[in-house]
Amino acid sequence: MRNRKAALSAIAAAASLALTLSACGQDSDGGSESDKGDAKGGTVGIAMPTKSSERWIADGANVEKNLKAAGYKTKLAYGEDDPDTQVSQIENMITQGVSALIIAAIDNKSLDNVLQQAKEADIPVISYDRLILNSPNVDYYASFDNEKVGELQGGYIVEKLGLKDGSKKGPFNVELFAGSNDDNNTQYFFKGAMNALQPYIDKKQIVVKSGQTKLNQVTTLRWDGGTAQKRMDDLLTSAYKSAKVDAVLSPYDGISIGILSALKSDDYGSKSKPLPIVTGQDAEVASVKSIIADQQTQTVYKDTRKLAEVAANMVDSVLKDKKPETNDTKTYDNGAKVIPAYLLDPVNVDKSNYKEVVVDSGYIKESDLK
Ligand code: BGC
Repeated sequence: MRNRKAALSAIAAAASLALTLSACGQDSDGGSESDKGDAKGGTVGIAMPTKSSERWIADGANVEKNLKAAGYKTKLAYGEDDPDTQVSQIENMITQGVSALIIAAIDNKSLDNVLQQAKEADIPVISYDRLILNSPNVDYYASFDNEKVGELQGGYIVEKLGLKDGSKKGPFNVELFAGSNDDNNTQYFFKGAMNALQPYIDKKQIVVKSGQTKLNQVTTLRWDGGTAQKRMDDLLTSAYKSAKVDAVLSPYDGISIGILSALKSDDYGSKSKPLPIVTGQDAEVASVKSIIADQQTQTVYKDTRKLAEVAANMVDSVLKDKKPETNDTKTYDNGAKVIPAYLLDPVNVDKSNYKEVVVDSGYIKESDLK
């Protein structure tokens, strides 16, 4: 009897030890100081802006996939385009003791306080796709060459209007749209586009009939397609009663779809009134379908799978006290310091190459475009 009791209590002790050990593994989810150098068990907080656009859903999933493959746990949150929600999500991650943060900001100027808290807790921060401004507590930036995105959009308009090779002289009517004014990328996209368009505006071969050519006149809060649709409606009513629009600079596919809706309600797309050239960005399924259907004309493909990999590698290096790979240490001054960046290359997409670029690369399944 005694022996049996002793044996039972030995089994119980072993079981409880096993439980404690596995609980330790779970605890490391909290990312205590001692996890920092140890890839296994650290948790990385990922704050994404919104689920209303495909790209960010894919970004979140791909960042998680890469981190998990490298032995990390993840906490992923979407701020649904509300800056306050995003701040409290990041605060929660800090309280839960994450080892590092990857943040795609909603409002690039709203994160100063929360990043100070991250600094105090010794949590490194990677700014993802969109640069966080005015905070010294950003360690690295992973993004695309954002000015080039705009150059591809503006350059496409110039080329397709026949202005670049001189086969047409114009004047052509072009309207301009930009992204959200609280997203740092917006100014880079617009600057790049204007690099291509401004010389022709100066020569009056491109005319912006609305007169709205300054960035602060053409932004679209939170990149909202409905807001863009409303502005395009207004432009058509006020500046195009007797003239036709030949091209619209759109910075993002969701905005392009809104612009196209406004154009179609004004009879564009009919025989006598062809649709203008409409650019875009992100190669979202709805827009690639629209390109195939000769509605939207262009988009810019950014392989967010690669971006996720770059950001996850940055975290892994920082947590292992290694220097992450960067390829730009000059361009991205966030107001507090220049943030070392790794920038990927964006790719121009239209009906002539969408298959090769977005389908053959496995970014979009051909069956999703049917
Ligand atoms: C991203 C774009 C995206 C836009 C709207 C920008 O910060 O760089 O890829 O189209 O946000 O979500």
